[in-house]
Amino acid sequence: MARLAICPGSFDPVTNGHLDIIHRGAKVFDEVIVAVFNNQSKQPLFSVEERVHLLQLATADMDNVTIDSCSGLLMDYAQSKNAQVVLRGLRAVTDFEYELQITSMNRKLNEEIETFFMMTNNQYSFLSSSMVKEIAKYRANVSDLVPAVVEEALIKKYQQS
Ligand code: ADP
Repeated sequence: MARLAICPGSFDPVTNGHLDIIHRGAKVFDEVIVAVFNNQSKQPLFSVEERVHLLQLATADMDNVTIDSCSGLLMDYAQSKNAQVVLRGLRAVTDFEYELQITSMNRKLNEEIETFFMMTNNQYSFLSSSMVKEIAKYRANVSDLVPAVVEEALIKKYQQS
């Protein structure tokens, strides 16, 4: 049976830290579906469609990676795709408590699906979408932090506002 992992997140927008996790995950699992979640409690900069499109462009060279979107429960989505694994990245200790809570709840909902964590690559340990947005808003250079397509999209977005 093919090993399928779901890599869920907001990806608002996708950063090099996300891409590192997706890329490494794609080496371990037969197939990775990156699922863009519409998190109602966050006020996103990019629409779900824009986030999906940017991810598609940024992962175009990864053959076993596909991009999708979802607005329901992660565990329902994972089950509907017959995924065995949820793949998440861990940066600092601050991520740990949040991830522990979510993972415990997800296990209660479906104990057949395991959550796997990958430690961030050291160079991305302080990289988050929020930080990228914060500095891009002030026109700072983000070319080391995100793929070129995202950099262009951020420049356009902040020119409009
Ligand atoms: P969420 O809102 O679900 O936290 P994010 O888009 O912020 O969604 O993150 C999606 C996943 O990618 C999470 O598992 C997060 O920990 C991981 N991630 C985000 N940035 C990095 C990074 N720089 N290095 C490793 N993992 C990361």
